[in-house]
Amino acid sequence: MHIKFWGVRGSVPSGNPETVKVGGNTTCVEIRCGEELIVIDTGTGFRNLGMALMKELPVKGTILYSHVHWDHIQGFPFFTPFFVPGNEFRVFGGTSLPTTVEEVLKQQMTPPCFPVKTDLFGANISYHDVKPGEVIEGENYKVTLAPLYHPNGCYAYRVDHEGQSLVFATDCEHYEDKPNKNLIELCRDADMLVYDSQYTDDEYNGLNGEIPKKGWGHSTMREGIKVAEAANVEKFVLFHHDPTHNDEFIQKIEAEARQLFPKSIAAYEGLQIELSEENLPSSLFD
Ligand SMILES: [Zn+2]
Ligand SMILES: [Zn+2]
Repeated sequence: MHIKFWGVRGSVPSGNPETVKVGGNTTCVEIRCGEELIVIDTGTGFRNLGMALMKELPVKGTILYSHVHWDHIQGFPFFTPFFVPGNEFRVFGGTSLPTTVEEVLKQQMTPPCFPVKTDLFGANISYHDVKPGEVIEGENYKVTLAPLYHPNGCYAYRVDHEGQSLVFATDCEHYEDKPNKNLIELCRDADMLVYDSQYTDDEYNGLNGEIPKKGWGHSTMREGIKVAEAANVEKFVLFHHDPTHNDEFIQKIEAEARQLFPKSIAAYEGLQIELSEENLPSSLFD
């Protein structure tokens, strides 16, 4: 299984000179299971993925939505392969509100907020709402899901392919009094966990002059490593970086993570991981 990160930022894009190494685009991850393409979330990083995929037409792929907050859907209208006939996509997602993933994505592309409607898409796109307990199948892979603690709901996805496994858990709050047993179970013996490491402990708890972020729906690197250890996960990726965290700050959090869990890396735009390899690639800061 091969993984490439196209957007690693949370909440809002944050392109500026201080974040240029890690990158400012929001959530979008490409997964290849052999020839098959899976994309998790269509944040602003999805636009760059689309431009890369234009070199391999026709494109066939499966898009999984963790949830439909802005930072996970904003790249959807800017994905060039959607405008090309002959391309085919299956879209899966869900929300805890009485609406469908199809309605949300189409509403995003309506006036007065957006000028172009999905009617102009030439690709064949099918939309499916999924619930925990369901399984999404590819020719060579299987995807299972678990609910996370996040306002309006969010799913963690586990992708299994030829004995390799990846869990993607962005946008999840942790609660000391009720550990997310569903997530730990989903992560059991996985090769890698990509986890919402948006806040430091001080930011989360409102210490040292920080505004407390409890209840905002996000977690910390330390809580993610607890999940990885409890579930016997091999590699850990810090993901959904806060827009205020510059390159230097993320380097510091990554170094702390490696003290606790040596096979850790902070995700950055362009990072590629081959899951069959024993070690993670070099960090951006090595
Ligand atoms: Zn988010
Ligand atoms: Zn969210």
